[in-house]
Amino acid sequence: MNSITCRYCQSKNVIGHIHNGKKRYMCHDCHRQFTPSAQKKYISKEQREMVDKMLLERISIAAISRVTGISKSWLYRYMGTSIY
Ligand SMILES: [Zn+2]
Repeated sequence: MNSITCRYCQSKNVIGHIHNGKKRYMCHDCHRQFTPSAQKKYISKEQREMVDKMLLERISIAAISRVTGISKSWLYRYMGTSIY
């Protein structure tokens, strides 16, 4: 149907199904589930903590984006939602 590959083992033996109104994929080889949207730019907890530290040091968004590789738009959104 399409060329979705498993994000864990890169298998093409993947089936799509709808779960709670959301599209989900399940891999037949490693039996893990994933969502296609989760593939795009997941910011890990470690990255968030690093961003927090850099914000406290008053490092500019542009510099944080350069160092971490996180997009500026994500950083602005993140700042808008954090207590900081
Ligand atoms: Zn897999």
